[in-house]
Amino acid sequence: MFRKRLENVIWYEIYKIKARGLWIFVAMLLAFAYYYYVPHLIYMVYKYTPHENLYIMYVAGTYLTHIISFTLANTFYIVLHMLKVEKWRINSQPWPWESDKDWYEKVIKLIKNHAFIQLFFLPMTLIITGHNARYQHHLKEPDFSETMTQIPIFMLIESFWTYTIHRILHEPWLYKKIHKKHHEFGVSITAANEYTHPLEFVFMNSLGLAVGPFLYGQQKVHLITWYFWIIIRIFITSDSHSGYQFPWSPMHLIPFGTTAEHHYFHHSHNVGNYSSFFTILETILGTDQPYIDYIRKKEKSL
Ligand SMILES: [Zn+2]
Ligand SMILES: [Zn+2]
Repeated sequence: MFRKRLENVIWYEIYKIKARGLWIFVAMLLAFAYYYYVPHLIYMVYKYTPHENLYIMYVAGTYLTHIISFTLANTFYIVLHMLKVEKWRINSQPWPWESDKDWYEKVIKLIKNHAFIQLFFLPMTLIITGHNARYQHHLKEPDFSETMTQIPIFMLIESFWTYTIHRILHEPWLYKKIHKKHHEFGVSITAANEYTHPLEFVFMNSLGLAVGPFLYGQQKVHLITWYFWIIIRIFITSDSHSGYQFPWSPMHLIPFGTTAEHHYFHHSHNVGNYSSFFTILETILGTDQPYIDYIRKKEKSL
């Protein structure tokens, strides 16, 4: 059993590299630019804000970072849909607006859900919890080595958290009451990444984001790194729900990590693949076996 899992890990890492081809060099370059320059861009704005007031900076900054990155990610994919870019799609299934007879009802549900979560639920949660924020909020910009030490730790902690909560949410009773909503989109689209029950939004989306900095020690984390971490997570979940797998994407480059196809499989087959960033727990517990079997079969048929 252990040998088989180890074989799976090695095979999957090679599969991911092969799937990217030479685009991997572009992806690595983009990833470097992303991790190096985005915190700097945040700082360019941050230095003109009332940064001495942690409460305001936590509540308003977290909210704005969330809304801006969510809007940017969605705009990018909406433009791709409008331009009918089909290259790099994970499969050729029709998009929900092409095949789903209830599409307009779903759009209304999506808008209502986003309006509730993003215009009411999220700001309320931040206003209530903001008094407990302890982030660094001085004017000195965190350096690259600090960012590159803290972000992978947050990813690792988040991965354990999300895997556990997500797996629990697939228990029949909780699935029916809470998580089924997120699974309404079998062919997942970016806008569906926050289409969730409010309890799922709190326990999986929000606490998943907060648990890394909390366990690491918020006092050791700068607000800029916190904002950057929000952007990373929103971009990666948007990518995971987009239906596209770009070989040049700077997302999903970490070793022993997921791909966009990994989460797409979770939506299309509704079995296994509970991870967000790293797949370590998934591999140890063997919950990615149906996916590994699926892609091995797919590779053989090519
Ligand atoms: Zn699920
Ligand atoms: Zn999902």
